[in-house]
Amino acid sequence: MSNPSHDTTSAQKKESRLRAETLLQACVHCGFCNATCPTYILSGDEREGPRGRLYLMKDWLTGPDKALDLAPLDHCLSCRSCETTCPAGVHYTEILDTVREATGETRSVVQRAMDQLTETALSSQTAVNALMRVARRVRPLASESLQRRIALAEPGLVWPAAQHARQVGLLLGCVQPALAPDLDTKAAIVLDRLGISAIPVGPGCCGALPYHLHSYEKARTIAHTTMAWDRPEWEGFTSTATGCTAFLRDYPRLFSGQPDAEPAQAFSPRVADIATWIDPTRLNALPPLKRRRIAWHAPCSLQHGLHGQGRIEAILKALGHTLVPIHDSALCCGSAGPYSLRHPRWAQALGHRKWQALTHADPTEVVSANIGCLQHLAGFSDRPIRHWVDVVYHDMRSL
Ligand code: SF4
Ligand code: SF4
Repeated sequence: MSNPSHDTTSAQKKESRLRAETLLQACVHCGFCNATCPTYILSGDEREGPRGRLYLMKDWLTGPDKALDLAPLDHCLSCRSCETTCPAGVHYTEILDTVREATGETRSVVQRAMDQLTETALSSQTAVNALMRVARRVRPLASESLQRRIALAEPGLVWPAAQHARQVGLLLGCVQPALAPDLDTKAAIVLDRLGISAIPVGPGCCGALPYHLHSYEKARTIAHTTMAWDRPEWEGFTSTATGCTAFLRDYPRLFSGQPDAEPAQAFSPRVADIATWIDPTRLNALPPLKRRRIAWHAPCSLQHGLHGQGRIEAILKALGHTLVPIHDSALCCGSAGPYSLRHPRWAQALGHRKWQALTHADPTEVVSANIGCLQHLAGFSDRPIRHWVDVVYHDMRSL
């Protein structure tokens, strides 16, 4: 007798594959997307660009039954730069994710074991906290760039009481509290000064980490937990890591073709980048001597995921800072969640390229919005690299 839940799963998979096939039809093979794809730019190899990947996936989805070469798909950063460029509006990420999930079981035992190990190590707050405790002890002996990756807690910071009628849920995340121990408290203090109470949610993973490591069911379970934390009295739901915020907003894609997709549809519009709640016109400019030349690195999750360009730039400018020009600003830095651990050669090449672009105009500091980018780029840094919330917090205090 057939197992009904297995039948449901098979039907869902079939539906997802059919949807991916339909989405693929939008591609007119113009190749514009290749021009803004980091892996194509680095390699010049058609198979390492979005158009080539789409061809590979189309062959696999519609052609005769054969194994798919997963390497070019694995090398994709899921940065979504190609989606922003594509004039035909091809939903590249949805197609890629469908194929990745459908081929998850065909991955080798070694690949699956490595994914599992990475997920266990990174999603264990106990392990990451223990590692960071040791790192902080040996920090004085570390190189300057390594020291920039080991943030120290600032004493005396207290999460403000929930005293305002305006409130927003702030997801504390999983890895970030260990790597940037005060960042969320600083965000809560900044919002408090602007008349909004940030309500801490978690700590807990948004689900992005297991999702990128092919643990799809685990990611969905986590998503259900996260959505249950949301409260209707809050104006919305956010985090200080754009990678997490973009993933939260993308929950409907996570549940695409699933029977329990409705809560994600309702939750998604409530999610926004935390900068949405910071009105630049309410910030005071610093005196001229305190103003700095900042290189702003917009994470892919902010540019291509949340489409949130402009707001943080306006906040930094409202404080009186100058933003230096950056070439190829739409290109990924190579961090991309666990990508930098799984594909260090690509990640290093992209990180080096990004750092050259960011420091070309000799800024006093580099500023970004996602813990992954900050940690990755700190490995190349010869000058301070900070989260923009840290900049706003300290600048507000110094006035
Ligand atoms: S994905 Fe878009 S930009 Fe790329 S080849 Fe297809 S239609 Fe052209
Ligand atoms: S998501 Fe990024 S790396 Fe992947 S094909 Fe698109 S542009 Fe290239």
